[in-house]
Amino acid sequence: MVPTASSFEEADRVTDRLLDELVAIVGSEHLLVDPQLRAGYEVDWTRRFKGTALAVARPGTAAEVASVVAACNRVGVGIVPQGGNTGLVGGAVPRSGELVLSLRRLSRIVEVDEVAGELTAEAGVTLVELHKAAIAAGFGFAIDFAARETATVGGMIATNAGGVHVLHHGSMRAQVLGIEAALADGSVIRRLTGVHKDNTGYHLPSLLAGSEGTLGVITKARLNLIRPVEATGVALLAIGDTDVAVKIVSVARRAGIVLTAAELFFDDGLRMVLEHTRSAPPFPSRHPAYLLIEVESRTDPLADISQLLADRDGIFDAVVSDDSLGRSRLWRLRDGLSEAIGARGVPHKLDVAVPSARLAAFVQRLQRAIDSVSIGARAVIWGHVGDGNLHINVLGLSPEDDRVDDVIMRLTIEMGGSTSGEHGVGIAKTRWVAIDRDPADLAAMLAIKRALDPQGVLNPGVLFDSTLAGMVS
Ligand SMILES: Cc1cc2nc3c(=O)[nH]c(=O)nc-3n(C[C@H](O)[C@H](O)[C@H](O)COP(=O)(O)OP(=O)(O)OC[C@H]3O[C@@H](n4cnc5c(N)ncnc54)[C@H](O)[C@@H]3O)c2cc1C
Repeated sequence: MVPTASSFEEADRVTDRLLDELVAIVGSEHLLVDPQLRAGYEVDWTRRFKGTALAVARPGTAAEVASVVAACNRVGVGIVPQGGNTGLVGGAVPRSGELVLSLRRLSRIVEVDEVAGELTAEAGVTLVELHKAAIAAGFGFAIDFAARETATVGGMIATNAGGVHVLHHGSMRAQVLGIEAALADGSVIRRLTGVHKDNTGYHLPSLLAGSEGTLGVITKARLNLIRPVEATGVALLAIGDTDVAVKIVSVARRAGIVLTAAELFFDDGLRMVLEHTRSAPPFPSRHPAYLLIEVESRTDPLADISQLLADRDGIFDAVVSDDSLGRSRLWRLRDGLSEAIGARGVPHKLDVAVPSARLAAFVQRLQRAIDSVSIGARAVIWGHVGDGNLHINVLGLSPEDDRVDDVIMRLTIEMGGSTSGEHGVGIAKTRWVAIDRDPADLAAMLAIKRALDPQGVLNPGVLFDSTLAGMVS
């Protein structure tokens, strides 16, 4: 049906009434309608994804979050939950005219339970603040990655964030013991007691982990803390290829060496970081690949590293450190990769996972697959070896051109992998969900979405592409 002038007027009236209602909930200083104030919330970290928001709401309490969600749901206005906006798949920025619901003001550590080794935090607490609170209580927190200053608890749960220590502690889902979240109709689910043994029905924290804002808006979480980190040693190894890296991780597993990180990157990536940070190279000569390993030990991590490297073929050189300055200098070479590549342009960021045994073969086939599209794209690759997760950053493509993405995704599926290792689907990868997941899985996912968000107001366009979205509402 062609919209008439009066139907436009009616839509404007509904929007005006909604904005008034939102002002009444969060206060006018926390409802941003001015385009200049909205701008930072409308573009993602990579600058690849951007859109216009109806407004940005910045509630200060969980009750305000629930009221905002309920108000939008009543009139069918889409909501894009946003934490630190460091997500890499476009899921936290508006597409066209949704309300951005920023959780950053929910930034309190609510409780640290030193007896149980658990912590309750609001959704907007950043990863770095989480680490500080855990350390202050004599514990540690399992998840860590380079966006730690900005990424939030809510965003990390919603994306089931991984990072450099998944190898040892699992991803964010494994850290979540309890959750509080607003559902689409404004009702609130809450179970924050943090009992480890809890088999009374479905485990809703697990369901929300990785749901990317499509099932509920997380307002608080009860998180597991880990024992304080023991002495650690870090080694940067210059190696011949991916196969060597995979073998080192496999040897460590069998030898009982506590490998807390195993990060692979290649010479082109290292050169970009060195140039971007104006740092000196770690080795006198260049090598094809590098593996950064972190080893934790009650006694002597350097002894464990020496044992791991003894008589190992394919290691050309190594820098080892067990003091904090040396360790962070080596880590900076790995942590700097995302920023260094971002400084070169707007990359297509793919984050796939393949079974560890196939990682080396996958890397070998990758460049051939990219070349087969022959459009001069350049891929810079790094990854977490222990869990088969590779970050593939493709430069030289326009934001809409996903021909290279397509060959990489299809190669990943062919090799038994997942098209999203840790960043999620967002809006960037929706077209591969239906190929990656079995029809029965998809039907179950859609049934859950329909049950919890019948109008499809929570993060529309994320996870399910337009074909699948039609089956949601
Ligand atoms: C330099 C850099 C390095 C990175 N390294 C890693 C890495 O190693 N591993 C990794 O997994 N990720 C990594 N990321 C990606 C990103 O940091 C993570 O996905 C992170 O979990 C996003 O948190 P955020 O608070 O910024 O979420 P946002 O970007 O704001 O949102 C991400 C998604 O979660 C949803 N969301 C946000 N808050 C809520 C909430 N309260 N309730 C419901 N839904 C919500 C959003 O709608 C969106 O779909 C990296 C990013 C950068 C920039």
